[in-house]
Amino acid sequence: MIQSKRVLVTGGAGFLGSHLCERLLNDGCEVLCVDNFFTGRRGNVAHLLDNPLFELMRHDVTFPLFVEVDEIYNLACPASPIHYQHDPVQTTKTSVHGAINMLGLAKRLRAKILQASTSEVYGDPEVHPQTEDYWGRVNPIGIRACYDEGKRCAETLFFDYRRQHNLNIKVARIFNTFGPRMHPNDGRVVSNFIIQALQGEPITIYGDGSQTRSFCYVDDMIEGFVRFMATDDDVTGPINLGNVNEWTIKELAEEVIELVGGKSKLIFKDLPSDDPKQRQPDTTKAKEILDWSAQCEARDGLKKTIAYFEELLKKG
Ligand code: NAD
Ligand code: UDP
Repeated sequence: MIQSKRVLVTGGAGFLGSHLCERLLNDGCEVLCVDNFFTGRRGNVAHLLDNPLFELMRHDVTFPLFVEVDEIYNLACPASPIHYQHDPVQTTKTSVHGAINMLGLAKRLRAKILQASTSEVYGDPEVHPQTEDYWGRVNPIGIRACYDEGKRCAETLFFDYRRQHNLNIKVARIFNTFGPRMHPNDGRVVSNFIIQALQGEPITIYGDGSQTRSFCYVDDMIEGFVRFMATDDDVTGPINLGNVNEWTIKELAEEVIELVGGKSKLIFKDLPSDDPKQRQPDTTKAKEILDWSAQCEARDGLKKTIAYFEELLKKG
């Protein structure tokens, strides 16, 4: 009998993690989903619990984990600024101690390991669009540093484990991704705007709305993860994963209002400090190495996400 591949997904009950668990199960893998439920929810994976190939474990990755797997996707870390700034020390610990623990596990098992890194490693960038060889501009003592520097240090650890222990690492730099199962109180721009528009409330734009982001639909991102994990040992990244279409935040607000068909007004609030002015991935490497580029237009992804939140609000 052929054994199915055993895959660990840390942060598996979160937004991206739950979609990844689902995809891996569909591909015939055994999935061990590990989460401390800080921002993730059992509900995100409730539909997977009956699957005999799926196991859910409550565990905090800042503590060592002893399991047997073939591959590790390390996604555990709050991703929304309001959540990662809620307990900044824990955020850094999750990124750094979490990386050390998961890399230690990978080393013992000689397992492949993929790190969910972020476009935040580029900080408020002077290079646009951002290429992987750009070193970034991060304020090391600002309110976003717990996340940005935590993720940068995690990347350092991944590459040192590669150099020192010859580990099979994959570092993916994820740009803003959205879709169903984002937490309704997540605080990120797409979920905030959709919920505000659906409830007929004002849309809260921070600053003047001229800052830009490039929004990737979740299914595209998961495809990118799986393709990256399947690459040969010499493919370590970092590789940018994201949609190249760049939007101002004001354009996003107007698009959401139009798609929802509501009458929400725009209101302008203070811009949080260190909020990056512009962000757009250069995905040439992803195309060349993974034959991957985002396929879903943000507008189509927004429609699916609006439908999800509409259902969620109906349920109360
Ligand atoms: P999310 O907050 O929905 O998921 C993170 C998950 O990690 C949650 O289930 C949370 O409970 C869990 N977690 C947090 N701390 C933990 C700990 N100490 N131990 C175990 N589990 C812990 O966010 P997401 O959008 O799904 O992000 C997943 C990963 O992708 C994160 O590492 C994030 O930094 C990265 N990322 C996401 C985006 C994006 O736009 N969604 C962009 C860049 C990077
Ligand atoms: N933002 C906004 N209104 C909101 C939430 C966010 O204008 O209700 C802005 C935020 O200041 C930032 C952009 O939208 O410029 C993206 O914010 P998000 O928190 O989604 O992600 P990140 O800043 O980490 O890219």
